[in-house]
Amino acid sequence: MTNFEVRQYDAAGRLGELTVPRAGVTVETPTILPVVNPHVQTVAPATLASEFGAEILITNSYILHGSEDLREPVLERGLHDLLGFDGAIMTDSGSFQLAEYGDIDVTTEEILEFQHEIGSDIGTPVDIPTPPDVDRERATEELATTQRRLEHAGTVDTGDMLVSAPVQGSTYPDLRERAAADAVTTGLDVFPLGAVVPLMNEYRYADLADVVAACKRGLGEVGPVHLFGAGHPMMFAMAAALGCDLFDSAAYALYARDDRYLTVQGTELLDELTYFPCHCPVCTDHTPAELDGMDADQREELLARHNLHVTYGEIRTVKQAIRAGNLMELVDSRARGHPAMLDGYRALLDHAEQLERTDPVSKDAFFYTSNESARRPEVHRHQDRLERLPVEGDEVLLTEGSSSARYDETWGVLPPFGPYPRELADTYPLTAEVPDRTDRAAYEAAANGVRRLVELHPDVSFTLVHDDWPATALDRVPDSVRLRDLHARD
Ligand SMILES: [Zn+2]
Repeated sequence: MTNFEVRQYDAAGRLGELTVPRAGVTVETPTILPVVNPHVQTVAPATLASEFGAEILITNSYILHGSEDLREPVLERGLHDLLGFDGAIMTDSGSFQLAEYGDIDVTTEEILEFQHEIGSDIGTPVDIPTPPDVDRERATEELATTQRRLEHAGTVDTGDMLVSAPVQGSTYPDLRERAAADAVTTGLDVFPLGAVVPLMNEYRYADLADVVAACKRGLGEVGPVHLFGAGHPMMFAMAAALGCDLFDSAAYALYARDDRYLTVQGTELLDELTYFPCHCPVCTDHTPAELDGMDADQREELLARHNLHVTYGEIRTVKQAIRAGNLMELVDSRARGHPAMLDGYRALLDHAEQLERTDPVSKDAFFYTSNESARRPEVHRHQDRLERLPVEGDEVLLTEGSSSARYDETWGVLPPFGPYPRELADTYPLTAEVPDRTDRAAYEAAANGVRRLVELHPDVSFTLVHDDWPATALDRVPDSVRLRDLHARD
């Protein structure tokens, strides 16, 4: 069973193809599933397809199941006809309602069979969305219930409908990792990471990064991975770099209802905008004041359209970044939008070695764009690689300047990577563009590389010629290394 294929990686981010057999479509990922409320459609599903290029959307089967006016029509006509959408339709099960109201009146078997009957392409069992920060005992117990239901879901006959296996475990990384590994054993098809909405609502992006990284450790490279309830474009790049493939958004519609305007850096209130910082048709054709003067329904629809343009635009930006190999530069740029995003980015970099496993060995260029760049996966990989690079001779020069015949061998030194054999100078990532006025983090990372090399070769005598490194970097270089400043006179 392979309904998901990865075409290209960048960090743990993936350009992939999700084949949805029941819909007869292949969806390119990463992508966003707009949430369509069966009762209230701010933007019609047909418009989502024709104007925004939506290939897949999500709606709630639990609402349809319990609806007096829609239950019979959807059973009779099918979901695609009811919503007027030809692409893939995923259905949620009511777990959200369970989390909100504490009780729902269907079993996993009933709701999966109902989803199958109405023609859903990707169904979802009733899992238990355990919120963040609960005590460990509760998280463990609820996880056991979710796992039993997923195993049961794997035995329900749902034809060629794909079935998702939500991963829970609250904010316990070890529980998340184990839940993810158990979810894989069920043989189900799509892996939503559940109950992360409270983290996003509270701007806890660092905790979110830790949860996603833990789930990914358990999942390995299966997929697709769905960050359930993630609909704000400001975090798509970060989540994609951690290995999320699917997002879903009610935000475009919910925010529009409250006059909130999405951007890739955060959320603005319509009445605080004098100018629209966006090139979409809505923002090109109107001013904030014009929208403000419209009646509520018209304003809501136009804001929803803007929100969708930004959302799909950011998905395309993320895909292009993976294609070009500069997703980490995009994450770095998006992290500047809000201090909480910067926390998320820094937490993501705590998992750089995990991201390194799928990061391509060669890419177009490495741009050093912030002191966080010093912690990128490429820096870890280069320094790990020192273990496999031979050092010839007893007297070795490591220098940011030119070679010297007085030494048996000369290596180059490039912050943030550290020492490298000269013959590798033209290979990625040593072709990096680093600012001339670089920062302490880059020098310190390079010094770590020097220390690593020196510790690997205790019998070699090293001299380091550096270009005015700060004391905090030089302190990291072992005492046995002779130091010279590149511009000091002999
Ligand atoms: Zn716009």
